[in-house]
Amino acid sequence: MSVKEFLQRLSEASGVTGYEHAVRELVIEEFRPYADEITVTTMGSVIALKRGTRDAKTAKDKTPVPKVLIEGHMDEIGLMVTEIDQGFIRFTQVGGFDVRVLLAQEVIVHGKQELRGIIGSRPPHVLSEEERDKVIPMRDLFIDVGLPEERVRELVQVGDLITIARKMTPLKNNLVAGKAFDDRSAVVTVAEALRQLSTMKHTWDVYAVANVQEEDGAWFGGAFTSTYQVNPDVAVALDVSHADQPNTTDVNAVPINDGMGIAMGPNVHPLVHQKLVDVAKANEIPYKVTAYSGPTGTDAWAIQIVREGIPTGLIDIPLRYMHTSVETLSTNDLERIGRLLANFCASLDDKFLGQLKGETNGGDEGTRKPPKAARKPAKKRK
Ligand SMILES: [Zn+2]
Repeated sequence: MSVKEFLQRLSEASGVTGYEHAVRELVIEEFRPYADEITVTTMGSVIALKRGTRDAKTAKDKTPVPKVLIEGHMDEIGLMVTEIDQGFIRFTQVGGFDVRVLLAQEVIVHGKQELRGIIGSRPPHVLSEEERDKVIPMRDLFIDVGLPEERVRELVQVGDLITIARKMTPLKNNLVAGKAFDDRSAVVTVAEALRQLSTMKHTWDVYAVANVQEEDGAWFGGAFTSTYQVNPDVAVALDVSHADQPNTTDVNAVPINDGMGIAMGPNVHPLVHQKLVDVAKANEIPYKVTAYSGPTGTDAWAIQIVREGIPTGLIDIPLRYMHTSVETLSTNDLERIGRLLANFCASLDDKFLGQLKGETNGGDEGTRKPPKAARKPAKKRK
């Protein structure tokens, strides 16, 4: 399936954080032809293994085959029923919607049956001037499915999920707009990498992962647990970041349709960053270095501190209008990122593994390493 077709399928499917089952089926279907093994974790993340050509049994030193993990998260932000008020449905959110644009959205209420609805509020005519200038808080919004109260109560209960009903819209210049591109576009790039690796030689085992439960914004349950299960030697997380647009002041804004961001900062291992940059250059893939001075708020944060620490990189997918139903990105960018990921995985070798084992995540040792004798013991590092 093409990058664009797969993105559309994933975008239009429903899978709020913690309830990703429908999306999971689509991911498994897409990964399967390129994977030697597919497992689903207890939490619900998908792990596809594509074996490398290095055979541990015949290798001279009998060391295990090194593992690289590439991942995106497949959940999406959504809404949840809190109350039925005279037949209208009140709701809260799972993850952080841009509340300014919830009014007038079409939604699907996932009750005993799927119900189409719209998000309404009081019309402007009856609002005070002051109220008219303000964002309408979620408590003043409600969902109308058109049914009488009694019937709504039969079909819908507190805790039921609600997703935005939105078809993907093609724009000019390979751009598309839709919902849940955060972060299913990353899953698309991981699938594209798997597809490209099927015609490439790679010695390391590649684990392509679609994680659950990122948008809760706090505990990264999918990434922690699947990374623990795989225990990779290197990992690359992919998530969306803000693309260039009018009035943007984000220093990390990445131009759309012109590649990706390759992240730097304490959340990223310097050698993994450098390797991603080297592979991009060698393959003439455009990128911009993005700088994160603290936690990146992505799965990379979780992955980096699994077990005794995993050398982790992070790629930013440029995206406009994050956490709305018209998130906008370029499918060209997704193809390029898939190509970078595939070439990155294929470039991994024993030499790189040796370098990683001799380095910590700290400082700039990745590029300016003092002689071994001059280095302090790792445990004394802060
Ligand atoms: Zn998000």
